[in-house]
Amino acid sequence: MRLFDAHTHIDMKHFQNDREQVISRAKKAGLVGMVTSSIGPGSFRRTLGIVKKHNSYLYHTAGSQVSRLTEDEALKTISLIRKYSAEIVAVGEVGLDYHWVKDQNQRKAQEPLFKLFIELANELKLPLVIHSRKAEARATEILEKHSAVRVLMHCYDGPTEVTKRISDNGWSITLPANFAKCRSRSEAGKAMPLNQILLETDGPYLSPTEGRNEPANLTFGCQSLAKLLDLPAEHVAEVTTNNALAFYSL
Ligand SMILES: [Zn+2]
Repeated sequence: MRLFDAHTHIDMKHFQNDREQVISRAKKAGLVGMVTSSIGPGSFRRTLGIVKKHNSYLYHTAGSQVSRLTEDEALKTISLIRKYSAEIVAVGEVGLDYHWVKDQNQRKAQEPLFKLFIELANELKLPLVIHSRKAEARATEILEKHSAVRVLMHCYDGPTEVTKRISDNGWSITLPANFAKCRSRSEAGKAMPLNQILLETDGPYLSPTEGRNEPANLTFGCQSLAKLLDLPAEHVAEVTTNNALAFYSL
């Protein structure tokens, strides 16, 4: 079985004591690689070092902590992305968060920063990994308006009409390892063509088991998707892995 974790956060402190074991467990579980997402300038620098050590297994996508992003932090992250653009595979996660951010003005204030990242990705010809928690429709609208081409809606949980638009646009979604617990994510898994679905863990978050999540748990998501689509797990693993390799141009 060949699996690929399309989105995790291996630089986070949750992994600082056993990161090497976590990576070797992922290899044993059949993962042929993973993309780790940095969420700000400090995280960016940490991730550069970790990825260098695991060249051709770990890949870096650079973005922000969407719900807490400030202009200063966005600009610092953008200048790091420019400087190290040859060492990253995508811009993101970036986007909109309406789950933690309830205030209308604060929600609006996320948009100009989101647009800066979309323009940066267009300019550097890098794909975009989108965080759009409870803001899937608005994020899609902004991406369409800015002619975003290669888009991955990470940890997708949007309504059916937005799923349809994403599918029509030729964009992709990721489903997390615990997606089967969530009805709307399962519906998205059914509505999207399999060649537009990638698997992720979002470790250390969204664990399908008790406690911390890690890339080896991608097997849970693969089994769940195989069951949902009534397909052999090997087939789901193969297709979603190829989707990830193609999306990130690996
Ligand atoms: Zn994430």
